[in-house]
Amino acid sequence: MLDTTTLSETQEVLQDSFDHTVFAWSKQKGISPIAVKSAKGVYMYDYDDKRYIDFSSGLMNVNIGHGNQRITEAVVKQMQEVSYVTPYCVTKVRGELGKKLAEICPGDLNKAFFTLCGATSNEAAIKLARLYTGRHKILSRYQSYHGATYGTLSVGGDPRKLPDDSQQAPNFVHIDIPYRYRWNHDEESMLNDSVAQLERVIAYEGPGNIAAIMLEGESGTSGCLQYPVGYLAAVRKICDKHGILIIIDEVMSGFGRTGKWFGFENHGIVPDMVTMAKGITSGYIPFGCLMVTDKIAARYDDTVLATGMTYAAHPVGCAAALETLKIYEDENLIENAVEMGKYMDAQAAILMEKHPSIGDFRNTGLLGCFELVKNRTTKEPMAPFNARPEEMAVMSKVAARIKELGMYTFVRWSYVFVAPPLCVTKEQIDEGLAIISEALKIADEYV
Ligand code: PLP
Repeated sequence: MLDTTTLSETQEVLQDSFDHTVFAWSKQKGISPIAVKSAKGVYMYDYDDKRYIDFSSGLMNVNIGHGNQRITEAVVKQMQEVSYVTPYCVTKVRGELGKKLAEICPGDLNKAFFTLCGATSNEAAIKLARLYTGRHKILSRYQSYHGATYGTLSVGGDPRKLPDDSQQAPNFVHIDIPYRYRWNHDEESMLNDSVAQLERVIAYEGPGNIAAIMLEGESGTSGCLQYPVGYLAAVRKICDKHGILIIIDEVMSGFGRTGKWFGFENHGIVPDMVTMAKGITSGYIPFGCLMVTDKIAARYDDTVLATGMTYAAHPVGCAAALETLKIYEDENLIENAVEMGKYMDAQAAILMEKHPSIGDFRNTGLLGCFELVKNRTTKEPMAPFNARPEEMAVMSKVAARIKELGMYTFVRWSYVFVAPPLCVTKEQIDEGLAIISEALKIADEYV
């Protein structure tokens, strides 16, 4: 007879987490967490050995795939040699990593400042842009996401991310995010309208007050909203005219995710600063980096830059990052992202024909998402814009079904993300899309 008082190991692990750690945010969204015991490649396993295909690379960070022992070995070796030094001492891996990053970054983006994560990279970039230019305002796009610290939440113009009572930090100004699917513009007018708006905002705010514009290398969380063709080149021109710096946030779009080392390389520009995290260590260790041009760095040859953090340039993070960068090259992961991205596009197009709830599919390399709608003609979104968790009923059901069928992926608002590790194979893409297709039957009922 089944003893209903006995919890499975997975259930016990979940219960401990609910009782003793802050997990409410996950429950609120109706997505019950997976209790992960182990992970390898594109798969995660719970404590009862149920297998989940990871179709969003964790939070779009585990680019090389799970369980790569080369990182473990590099980390252990570094810890055995020296596990911590202050940012005022250096280790061999710190210099080697800086050199490698300068090699993969275009132009004269040659100087690295190592941080702890994406938000701290962006905070450092904002601070440096203000110090360097002597100006105080920062431009960014509505619906973008740049982190969850006080400053970076204010840069990211997404009200869906701000708690009701949150005060935003001052001097962050938002511009429109061009939305090809919803604007119903042709390519040229989308470009012209968004560029004209940027120029108007710069004029209103006073170009002499604006230190920098911060833009994602390619939009991710906001729904993979791809730039109009020529947009970043136009931004570069306008910023050069006014002495405004361009900070490109490559936290999500960097390290092969979009089929290039960095997302901005798809648009032919070189920014003044680039922020990185996630894929830099593939999530194995928290770590981040701000790369700046030689010109910006030179200003601080004789001036102390007050950006110290206890764990900046942590040697274990540097060792993990250095090994991760070698793995991208040794395993041809960026080339694979290009090839698998094309396969994903072709297969997603087939899914669109099958499911009326799919309004749009957007993907760059392996950073993609399905946008679900209740009506393809009116484009009414499956979850209302700015939906609170309780308003995401259908999407929560879709997410629950995806999990039940053995997949972990990021489901937010009306978006189902597809961003598997860059080592994914065609067969694994088929497996993942078959699960999404099955789960979309729920959404189709609401069309
Ligand atoms: N910037 C972008 C574009 C991101 O997608 C994220 C996280 O998702 C961040 C910054 C914040 O990074 P972190 O969570 O490591 O602070």
